[in-house]
Amino acid sequence: MVSMEERDLKYIWHPCSQMKDYEELPPIVIDRGKGVWLYDIHGKKYLDIVSSWWCNLLGHCNNEINAGIKAQLDKLEHVIFANFSHEPAIHLAEELAQIVPKGLTKFHFSDNGSASVECALKMCFQYFLQTGKPEKKRFMCLSEGYHGETIGALSVGSMDLYAKMYEPLMMDNIHIEAPDCYRCPYGKCRDNCSCECFSYAEKAFADHAHETAAMIVEPLLQGSAGMRVYPPLYLKKLRALCNQQDVLLICDEIATGFGRTGKMFACDHAGISPDIMCISKGLTGGYLPMSITVTTQTLYDAFYADYSEGKAFLHSHTYSGNPLGCAAALAVQKIFHTQPILENACKNASWLTKRFHEEFAAHPNVGEIRHIGLIHAIELVKDREHKIDFSPEKRIGYEIYKRALNRGLVLRPLDNVLYFNPALNITRDELDIALELTKASINEILPC
Ligand SMILES: *Cc1c(COP(=O)(O)O)cnc(C)c1O
Repeated sequence: MVSMEERDLKYIWHPCSQMKDYEELPPIVIDRGKGVWLYDIHGKKYLDIVSSWWCNLLGHCNNEINAGIKAQLDKLEHVIFANFSHEPAIHLAEELAQIVPKGLTKFHFSDNGSASVECALKMCFQYFLQTGKPEKKRFMCLSEGYHGETIGALSVGSMDLYAKMYEPLMMDNIHIEAPDCYRCPYGKCRDNCSCECFSYAEKAFADHAHETAAMIVEPLLQGSAGMRVYPPLYLKKLRALCNQQDVLLICDEIATGFGRTGKMFACDHAGISPDIMCISKGLTGGYLPMSITVTTQTLYDAFYADYSEGKAFLHSHTYSGNPLGCAAALAVQKIFHTQPILENACKNASWLTKRFHEEFAAHPNVGEIRHIGLIHAIELVKDREHKIDFSPEKRIGYEIYKRALNRGLVLRPLDNVLYFNPALNITRDELDIALELTKASINEILPC
């Protein structure tokens, strides 16, 4: 009989994969999930410590979210969102308006994170076009950023190995050296520095603000860069500089939103409001593809005019405002209202920080342990004293990932950075299991 794995590989081209790797590591075919656990078709279980690409917020097959979607399913699955609307979208916008940073009041729906970033970039460009500053048409971003895979989103991201080859297709953006607290060029420490590295941004603004529409950042946490955490002060300074130089600030909270950093949004740590905020991933609890580009009355007003003036934002996606996605998102909000999800996650986060240090700090290849909210990461290095990386061909992170899979833990790394980014309602017992499996998997590849 042909196995499920063989049937998969006959037709399916998996995302972000060298398909040849599947020769030695065939796809793991998942049958069902519950909480932080995934069960494959052979009955083996895996602890999903990366919450399925950071989107699963409150566990797999969460009873309340399931119920919310099921109830909506028998009423309306989808409807065109231009000229039409529905209660779940209206209710969701009302709910989100209560929790997003102050001043964000208008909600534009798309169906994935990259799409919400494209939407934000187009809005900023068009805003300046329609307010008499057509010369402001470029974008600034941080060197190690990640904002998605579509060409526009890719071109405001890191020019790493994966993105570099598409450079001929990209917009000419201004890439500012990102904060790198582990390898701080000023030799400072993220807990008490004055963000000396903000000078790179100041220089870029001095040279380019006049031609720049917006600056886009992942607030406080550069996820794809290896869960790099930087201080709230940087974001405060950036907000002030953007105001001063008439540059819009886009905060991409796709990964950081909905409690991942210990507050509802990462911006809340800095007490700032962006001009545009992109949200997705945890928005629906990781159930359904939905994203929102949230913006201000000021931006919205620049598009509000008689039709003949041609100022409308003529941008759409077929599945904008999908009612099932809205129902999932509403269920997530209801859970935040009725259960102490954030409080518990914060308590468990401090406990987990202590446990990370107990378990990993002494290992000679652990360069840095960094964390924000429940997100905890270990950067593995060849030489700790000099912070020297392993050579990429060794694929240390990938080797550890495979050992962890054998042991029943989904520890998908970012190069040589291993991380936990679990559902917010994971228990300490489950975290302890993940710690133990992580330690054993590291020691298998890097004995100390
Ligand atoms: C995942 C992610 C995106 C892209 O979202 P997709 O839904 O995968 O297109 C953009 N920005 C950040 C910060 C992300 O983590």
